[in-house]
Amino acid sequence: MRKPIIAGNWKMHKTVAESLELVNALKPLVAGVTNVEIVVAPTFTALAFVSQVVGGSNIALAAQNMYWEDSGAFTGEISPLMLKDVGCEYVILGHSERRQYFGETNETVNHKVKAAHVHGLKPIVCVGERLEQREAGIAHDVIRDHIVHGLAGLTAAEMLESVIAYEPVWAIGTGKTATPDQAQDVHAFIRGLLTEIFSADVADQVRIQYGGSVKPENVSELMAQPDVDGGLVGGASLRADLFAQIVKH
Ligand code: PEP
Repeated sequence: MRKPIIAGNWKMHKTVAESLELVNALKPLVAGVTNVEIVVAPTFTALAFVSQVVGGSNIALAAQNMYWEDSGAFTGEISPLMLKDVGCEYVILGHSERRQYFGETNETVNHKVKAAHVHGLKPIVCVGERLEQREAGIAHDVIRDHIVHGLAGLTAAEMLESVIAYEPVWAIGTGKTATPDQAQDVHAFIRGLLTEIFSADVADQVRIQYGGSVKPENVSELMAQPDVDGGLVGGASLRADLFAQIVKH
């Protein structure tokens, strides 16, 4: 039985004070929730502060990116050790904005995914096609590439400690959500790939989140799909009331 996981990606939003305001508002709203794993991903500068608030609660902490080396002359980068140090349990990797604006590739995502596991961080690995790729009928091919290369070399045990987020790029921040059928189609395809690469048993246990304009109004029908195990939420995670409604849908 897969426990649903709902994560809020705060992207490059909120100062430390604003982040604390958000998490302090969220915490009591979701305090009783035990049937859904709740994750928030603030900016790097807010991580240590938010960590103090969520410590010991039912809200886990995630970073939005990291580099794969432990330390060294890599100006501007953050290592897995540093994320562990401030209490991160998860790290979002390969988000489409990182692929689009910061040159991330399946290969760099793969380095990062492996490094996360070396340090006991659970990666949330983002995959998803752009609009022109969907229109050209190659959405599955793009996702196969993201999965096969992004997860290359993982052991079954590491795969079980990973989460996949299917985020059609055309649905991120656009207000356009994939229909429940579109989401289910790709989620089932991803689970099939995990069966091929690992085993049916592993595929059956890995959680696959949907991301792309998830809101209180559409979360229930998305989550009702058999292969949708949670959400990666951008915009709506910036409001405690909306994110709490999504968690408690
Ligand atoms: C995201 O940031 O991963 C995302 C899905 O954003 P939004 O919910 O705003 O579309």
